[in-house]
Order: sequence, then C-alpha cells, then structure tokens
Amino acid sequence: MEKNPKNIVDTHGRIHDYLRISLTERCNLRCFYCMPEEGVQLRDKSEFMTAEETIAIAKTFVDLGVKKIRLTGGEPLIKKNAGIIIRELGKLPVELSITTNAVTVDRFINDFKQAGIKSVNVSLDSLKADTFNKISRRSYFKEIMHNIQLLLDNNFHVKINVVLIKGVNEDEIIDFIQWTKNVNIHVRFIEFMPFDGNNWNWEKKVSFKEILEQVDTKIGPKFYSKIEDQANDTARNYQLVNGLGTFGIISSVTNPFCDTCNRIRLTADGKVKNCLFSEAETDILGAFRSKQNIEPLIRKSIMAKHKERAGLPDFSDDDIHLYKNRSMTAIGG
Ligand code: SAM
Ligand code: SF4
Repeated sequence: MEKNPKNIVDTHGRIHDYLRISLTERCNLRCFYCMPEEGVQLRDKSEFMTAEETIAIAKTFVDLGVKKIRLTGGEPLIKKNAGIIIRELGKLPVELSITTNAVTVDRFINDFKQAGIKSVNVSLDSLKADTFNKISRRSYFKEIMHNIQLLLDNNFHVKINVVLIKGVNEDEIIDFIQWTKNVNIHVRFIEFMPFDGNNWNWEKKVSFKEILEQVDTKIGPKFYSKIEDQANDTARNYQLVNGLGTFGIISSVTNPFCDTCNRIRLTADGKVKNCLFSEAETDILGAFRSKQNIEPLIRKSIMAKHKERAGLPDFSDDDIHLYKNRSMTAIGG
C-alpha cells in the first residue's frame, strides 16, 4: 500500500485509511438484534454532528490518508440533509459507500450517482415478508425489495448483509445463496454479535462453520468454490459454479479478522471509536467545536487500539456478559 507520512498508524503497524461515519443513531426499522422496540433514547439535537461538522471532520480524516468512507448509522438516509452530506463527501478523493436498510433508497439514487457511489450495502435478513417484518418490527419488505431492484437496474454493486440467528432465519441460507445464481448480487452472512441490550448469547449465533456445513450438505462442494478475498475484506467469499453473484461469511464472533483492520469509527455524536467493540471513545466533536486541533486526538485514539477485538476475552468466555458497549445503532455498524 502507498505510504503517506501523515497516515494514521497504530502500534501494530496497521494503516487506518477507512472511516465509517454514523450519520444518526435513529432508524425507521427496529431490527430486534440491533435496536430496542421503543427506539433509541432521544437526546438533544445539539449533541450530534451537523451536516457541516460531519463534512469538515471527514476532511481532516482525508488529510490524514483516509481513502475510503462508508456512511452508516442507525439509518443514514433518515439524517436531515443526508443528500447534501452524500454529495459533499462525494467531492473528496475517497471511495464513498453506504450501508442502508434501503427503505428510502429510491429518493437518493441521484445523490448516490452524483457522489460517485458505486457500491451499496443493503441489510435484508429474510427473503420472506413475514419473517423480515417480524425481525425488523416494521412492514417495509416490499419497498426494500423494490429498491434493491432499483439499485441493480442502475448498475450499483449491491451487497446484501444477512445477520443469521438460530431459529429465526438460518433455514434461508440456501435460498439467499440461490439468489446469487442468476442475479449479480453479493450476499454476506454475518455472525450475530453481542451489543448492549440485544440479548445475545453464544448459542444464538450461526457460525462460519455451521454455514459452510449447510452449504456442503445442501449444495455440495462441487457446486461452489472459494474466490479471492479483497485486501482488508472482512468476508471470506465464495461463488456458485456459473453464479453471477457471490456469497461470503463475516465471522467476527468465531474467527475475527483483526490482523488487517484499517477501520476507524466516528459516531453520530462525534466520538472516535478505534474498534467496534471498544468501550473507550474520544470526543472529536467537542474538540472541534472548541477549535482545538483534532489530529492528535485521532492519532492518540488509534495508538491505543488493541491487537484484537478491543482486548476482550473470547466471545465463548462466560465473562463476556460483563462487557459494556453502546448498542450497534449508536456505534454505527
Ligand atoms: N441501518 C443500516 C442497515 O441496517 O444497513 C446501517 C446500520 S446497521 C447497524 C449496519 C449493519 O450492522 C447491518 O448490516 C446490520 O445487519 C448489522 N448489525 C446490527 N446489529 C448486529 C449484530 N448484533 N450482529 C451483527 N450484525 C449486526
Ligand atoms: Fe435500523 Fe440497520 Fe439496526 Fe435494522 S440493523 S434497526 S435497519 S440500524
């Protein structure tokens, strides 16, 4: 990788050039593994970054060698002025992308195009309306499927994120994979991860190993193959023989991918988190508002990054329930 003397590098030599910005903690869905039914606790608007602050802070990261920015949340497309943020960030010399539940994607297709977005990640945990609506506690299945098609029709690279949970949607693994046979879509199964308030336990996840066992039994080893993973990719990727799309597995719980981690997270309230699982946060927004130089704060946060998963014990450890973190929606997934 090209070195920039200003790059943000941690004590393990990892260059951090990928920023994930959460635009809001709020969401128009209530996926039970992510959000409490009543939504997030409302906080005063002044606690969150405005569109202008988000753009200015993102520019500092780009000066420090960030090459890729992903917008996430909560649901990024419900942020006031989301279109302006997308278009302004699109002017920076970065690969811009977004993770969305796609409920309102039809209103943003032109903003995505203007911003040069090429790839969109959409969360969809079931191909059955009933199951999807139960998981998300809302009824937008039809709109989401329509918007996925709209993205494909407009030539976006579409990745589908599927969080697998025992007894909920593990019976749909093969249906999701069959979808990739004739459609150029990229399905990624994600192991269910523990966050505050999501009632996680070790037994509820569907592991990397269990997913591949299903694929081997129901599809057969001759009918799919491993494909090359991109640098810093969090998924191990596969393809059906003659498949147009691909499928992958993100195994953050049973097989973390920390050795090549290049990610920095900026929460909607302007805190830097050096890992999805870290309890520690650095208040960048406060410093920015009081006109301090935020660069040393960003570097200090990344220098404190642990080698693996914020230094937590293995997720199979009994003490894992003692670990405290924000909910996923308040971090920015
Ligand atoms: N609202 C957008 C969406 O759903 O795509 C963006 C934010 S969402 C928090 C980002 C990703 O995190 C989604 O793909 C979601 O499925 C995933 N996610 C949320 N909670 C999770 C958990 N407990 N374990 C694994 N993935 C989770
Ligand atoms: Fe909203 Fe995304 Fe969380 Fe579902 S996963 S509740 S869509 S933030």
